[in-house]
Amino acid sequence: MIEVSSLSKRYGNFLAVDDVSFSIKKGEVVGFLGPNGAGKSTIMNIVTGYLSLTQGKVTVDGYDILEEPEQAKRRIGYLPEIPPLYIDMTVNEYLGFVYDLKKVKFPKKPHIDEILRLVKIDNVKDKLISKLSKGYRQRVGIAQALVGNPDVLILDEPTVGLDPKQIIEIRNLISRLGQNHTVIVSSHILSEIQAVCERVIIINHGKIVADSTPEELSKELSNDYSIVVRVGGTEEEITKILKGVKDVESVNCLGQKESGTLDFVVTPKAGADIRKDVSERLAARGKHIIMLVSNQLSLEQVFMRLTYEADVAAVVAEQNKAKGEGK
Ligand code: ADP
Ligand code: MG
Repeated sequence: MIEVSSLSKRYGNFLAVDDVSFSIKKGEVVGFLGPNGAGKSTIMNIVTGYLSLTQGKVTVDGYDILEEPEQAKRRIGYLPEIPPLYIDMTVNEYLGFVYDLKKVKFPKKPHIDEILRLVKIDNVKDKLISKLSKGYRQRVGIAQALVGNPDVLILDEPTVGLDPKQIIEIRNLISRLGQNHTVIVSSHILSEIQAVCERVIIINHGKIVADSTPEELSKELSNDYSIVVRVGGTEEEITKILKGVKDVESVNCLGQKESGTLDFVVTPKAGADIRKDVSERLAARGKHIIMLVSNQLSLEQVFMRLTYEADVAAVVAEQNKAKGEGK
């Protein structure tokens, strides 16, 4: 439905989007996750045809956003970071205005009434937008994106500035819309994305650093993480056996959590999966594993590793290099 290939965007000398490619199938609900300044809004503004691109190609349902912008744009409903609301109109007037602007072909009243019901704002349709709460305004923003019944919805940080109750309402609305739309929703907050998306694209400094399902992401990045083993025996003998297993970096005893057993944290060398070897070695020595769990990273930890920790590592590397050169 959406194909983005080798997309780059420069603001003057600043490269805000750096050679980004991804493809989104019809019906997918995809999250753009990344810290502030990562380039999420820039990519969304380009895909929706509101911003020019420096390099690359974007198509929507096969229509090139530069060559056939009208065809491409007709298929997209967009909620920008700052929704373009006219606050001195009523909700109904505003949606009528958007309907005219988009030159929609469906009969006007039934179409708008259906959107009002879907987004649950029919009870405020005759109120001025200026009189609405932020949560209601955001729903009006989503309603205007739905005018014209586009297949694709692109929602830029739709829950920013809302209170927890409003956030849950907007999330539920996005989940409902995801049932019959292709959706891209951005956020700098992981739990937002995790709650509504089946796929997450993590963006940092204008580049895609991960593109997977939430489950896969935490699994992939957790492979080289420690495991916890619960086993019967003395601390000395078990430690000795575990230290003898191939690719084991360190072993730490956590003490007794269950009568007659001890828990050990076993950390492998980077990238190694030691689970099979650990269980085989212990069994060969007559020691039986009662429990073996991966200390899997939460998606939150994965996100931190890919963005914040990566930045810290880069800064440290830079400093070390400077030190090295200073010698
Ligand atoms: P996000 O939506 O992920 O917070 P943006 O796409 O808004 O990120 O911004 C990406 C980077 O591009 C940021 O460093 C931002 O400061 C810069 N940027 C965004 N818009 C402009 C602009 N019009 N002119 C110059 N720099 C910009
Ligand atoms: Mg943004």
